Amino acid sequence: MIFQNLARNNEIGSSSYLLDTGDCRVVMDAGMHPSAESTEAIPNYQELEKNSVDAIFLTHSHLDHAGTLPVLMRDQPEAPVYMTAATAALTDALLHNSVNVMSSKRLELGITEYPLYGHRELDRLETSWKHLEYKKPLDLTLETSATLHDAGHILGSSGIMIEKNNTRVFYTGDINFEDQTLITGADFPTEDIDALIIETTRGASPRDPAYEREKEEDRLLAAIQATIDRGGAVLIPVFAMGKTQEVLTMLHKFKTSGRLSDKTPVFIGGLSTKMTILFDEFADSTPRKLPGFEIFRDMDVRAGSKKGSRKPIVYQKGAIYALSSGMMTEKTTSNGFAQTFISNPKNGLLFVGYAAPDTPAGKIRAMNRGDIIELNPEMPPVVFDCEMEEFDFSGHSEREALLDYMLKVAPKQIFLVHGDIEASRWFETQLHEKLPDCDVVIPLPKKHYTIPENPA
Ligand SMILES: [Zn+2]
Ligand SMILES: [Zn+2]
Repeated sequence: MIFQNLARNNEIGSSSYLLDTGDCRVVMDAGMHPSAESTEAIPNYQELEKNSVDAIFLTHSHLDHAGTLPVLMRDQPEAPVYMTAATAALTDALLHNSVNVMSSKRLELGITEYPLYGHRELDRLETSWKHLEYKKPLDLTLETSATLHDAGHILGSSGIMIEKNNTRVFYTGDINFEDQTLITGADFPTEDIDALIIETTRGASPRDPAYEREKEEDRLLAAIQATIDRGGAVLIPVFAMGKTQEVLTMLHKFKTSGRLSDKTPVFIGGLSTKMTILFDEFADSTPRKLPGFEIFRDMDVRAGSKKGSRKPIVYQKGAIYALSSGMMTEKTTSNGFAQTFISNPKNGLLFVGYAAPDTPAGKIRAMNRGDIIELNPEMPPVVFDCEMEEFDFSGHSEREALLDYMLKVAPKQIFLVHGDIEASRWFETQLHEKLPDCDVVIPLPKKHYTIPENPA
């Protein structure tokens, strides 16, 4: 079999991989680079001849895995597209949002290639996506089959097992082995895997060995309570999909256990409302830590900007605002709300996820109180003078858990992907020592790598 990394660089960006089993050419993921623009954000699809792909799979709906699916489908119109039903619903919503983002960038930055696809094209393509369930093998050809396994990363996320005769290749997508507050941890195979293609996101960031998710939840609750006690309000900038629902579930747990007053108003806004509705739709059909729990039915959540209405979110002390975007990007709800919020010393700004250093959230995290920040070039700069705390609720497994999995699987070959080069290098060093017979590869873009097949 031949494996090829279609991403432009060894980094977290436009994830896409080709596996050619000899009788079936499979593309796994079709990402868009989160910070590159225009055609630079698209994987090296020119490596694929038109109509040369037999099947396309998406592991999950994050844009770095799904954002250029319509572009790939245009080149490969005959390839069926497979993903879980939840991934399909979330991807549809996120790609429509992406059309809006690209359209405004076209106007503001003059990027004439944008949008890379349109709403109507998406509506047409979306109807052809085929839904797969976890652990139900699908025959792609007489010799090659594919099976999805729950990756525990976000709703609907999966790893993909490609099996040809008795040779098995497993691509993990993004993984979380640990239970989150709402989403349960990964349920991955460990037996008879010949080659593993695995993410390395957190390879360069060791976690405090004393870390426990429950303790981190307690720390978040304490920060919320302290803010409310001093007469302020709480702002938690969150990604609309995934982190919003995790944070809301934590707040639900705090309230139902009596540790937070159930009168505390909770607001969400921006794209989060739509995403939360989708999470609720899959409450009964996907694995959950709180079976059947539906956020909008079981919690008193106030949606600041409901679909269609653009009503601004009003500040009130004692309230919690979980607003997107997580990186407080310009023109998003969290960015606009922060404009006056972060200058009030009584308020608390709590970060629960990753923020790139060059984004407003990344800049604030590196600041001291009293520093001045321009959150939006169209508004005056503001003084950052509220309490700020950071929490670790990553949707990615810590590096030790990934390494343990690799050692347990002990495949003949490991391809280290989806990580900055230092992150992949950490795994490479560990594996050379702990799995000396394994062929460990950081796959260079465009290069072809052979995966040996077992004798039939
Ligand atoms: Zn992801
Ligand atoms: Zn990713």
